[in-house]
Amino acid sequence: MSNTGNFLGFTGKQLRINLNRKDVQIEPVSPELTRKFLGGAGYGAKVLYDELKPGIDPLSPENILVFATGPLSMSQFPGGGSMMACFKSPLTNIWAESRTGGDSAPDLKKAGFDHIIIEGRASEPVMIFINNQNIEIRNASHLLGMTVSEKSKAIREELGDKRISILCIGPAGEKLSRIAAIMSDDRAAGRCGGGAVMGSKNLIAIAIKGTGKVDVADPVKLKEVLRRALVDLRANPFYDGFKNFGTIGDMPGNDDGGDWPSKNWESNSWGKGPELFDYYQKNNFIKGYGCYHGCTIGCARWVQVADSEFKTPAHGGAEYESMSCFTAFVMNTDVDAAVNGTYLCNEYGIDTISAGAVIAFAMECAEKGLFTKDQLNGLDLHWGNGAILPVMVKMISLRQGIGDILAEGVRIAAQKIGQGSEEFAIHVKGLEGPAHDPRSGKALGVAYATGNRGMCHIHPLEGMAWDRGKVDWGLQKFGIPDPNEVERWDETGKGRAVKLLQDGVALSDIIGTCKFFAYAGMTPDHWAEMMQALTGWDIDGKELMQTGERVLNLQRMFNVREGITPKDDRLPKRVLTIPAFGKYCTEPDCVIHDFDALMAEYYEARGWDPITGAPKSEKLRELGLV
Ligand code: SF4
Repeated sequence: MSNTGNFLGFTGKQLRINLNRKDVQIEPVSPELTRKFLGGAGYGAKVLYDELKPGIDPLSPENILVFATGPLSMSQFPGGGSMMACFKSPLTNIWAESRTGGDSAPDLKKAGFDHIIIEGRASEPVMIFINNQNIEIRNASHLLGMTVSEKSKAIREELGDKRISILCIGPAGEKLSRIAAIMSDDRAAGRCGGGAVMGSKNLIAIAIKGTGKVDVADPVKLKEVLRRALVDLRANPFYDGFKNFGTIGDMPGNDDGGDWPSKNWESNSWGKGPELFDYYQKNNFIKGYGCYHGCTIGCARWVQVADSEFKTPAHGGAEYESMSCFTAFVMNTDVDAAVNGTYLCNEYGIDTISAGAVIAFAMECAEKGLFTKDQLNGLDLHWGNGAILPVMVKMISLRQGIGDILAEGVRIAAQKIGQGSEEFAIHVKGLEGPAHDPRSGKALGVAYATGNRGMCHIHPLEGMAWDRGKVDWGLQKFGIPDPNEVERWDETGKGRAVKLLQDGVALSDIIGTCKFFAYAGMTPDHWAEMMQALTGWDIDGKELMQTGERVLNLQRMFNVREGITPKDDRLPKRVLTIPAFGKYCTEPDCVIHDFDALMAEYYEARGWDPITGAPKSEKLRELGLV
């Protein structure tokens, strides 16, 4: 396998698979579009903006599912195990991207393809097998009902290859839960309901085997650039922090810093973070590992519950977001129950964040007496009941009993339950909030309100890390203020800063790398150097920053076309309210005082029309989007 023409660093080819007709086409990828949108969430946005009809039902055959690699989605690059799934979300009805680690992206490139575009709906359950340049669509009826690990094992046995990469759905995706994930073994493209989109297409799994390689413009230079990058990474304190303690190592500090949503966001701290983390380290944690072959950080956690009523086999998972949503969100102090609950999320294929959020929402509904006796059917949904978590995960995944309503996500569930429950359904644009709280620093509030996929845990990370964590992401040279000179409770200037932070840190999901490597010191200049050596392009950090901005604006245009207006760039009322308990309930400055002023500043920095919320025509011209 070799690259097409002078398209070095890419395969230059993509698969277009129409499941209605079971038709497979191998298409060339445009070098011009690739330079402009690169890959991942950038290339996916271009495909969906150009090809998706506005207003379609995301669970209809008309939706398009794009799996897009980035130029750096290869195992030798820092964080290069990233695959982006892009689609219109059945949870939010707007733009959706969802990242998974694992080896599917490097393997797809080795098979000779940069992207997969999936259209239509198969008439029976199917699996796509990409075996280098041979593509098969196989019947997958025998896989229905299996958990993710059972499916993955069965597929590997059927294909006679233990190493093959698999993207699949669990029972939750088959049941079209709007919070269903696309799984890659223990890793997940969890957010926005991509698993339901796959399920709606009768697409149960994609198996990928790739044994080729991608041609590099300057291998000697690339080796040297990667060597220097590793030196910079190892010198960064976050590198060892992620390696030694994983993301869950943030639990005590985030609790103390007011960045730990608790009791369905009634508070931003709980005070239990240190003891829960300590229990986890002593009883559940086995070892750290890299989620793709080649990860030098290895923040992923291998965990188990050895001996309790929640006995759980050794598996990959139970990281910061998942564990916070299964402890603080629901006031549960039983760490074993939380590990078991998040394990079941992976096995049934649902997003751990949205699952924890809907369970917390259900507990508050139960507390307020909003469920009928029949709906509850004996379920004990009191705050802190860890034993109910595994039960609820299965019910939501299989749409059983009250789980059928909760499988819709908090926004739709609140519409169905009514009785004022919309007040405590915590989401932005339909996506449930993750385990970071803007009452820890105002930049995070702007990022949540304006994130293109809603209240997500990936894109707002930069605001949180800059404002409270004092991480500059290497973006000071592009105009963001020195975080060490920023007071987290201040509001002026945060709108402008978030615009730049978003442009710079969105790059990870466009170039195909894990964001934790940016957290640990990889900057747009590092990425540009790698891309110069890889592709032979004359590219620098400034061009990459503009690419980030272009992609975010194109995603915004997609959302505006779907009906998003400035009214949707909002935060839930509870998140703008002084915490009801915990360390910050006597700190009135932790809440945003003038949200409108923050948004006005952000809109101006973005060049967006404050009435329509759309990018202004001069901004579109500047970015080459018209
Ligand atoms: S740092 Fe963690 S999430 Fe990122 S690629 Fe490595 S193991 Fe995966």
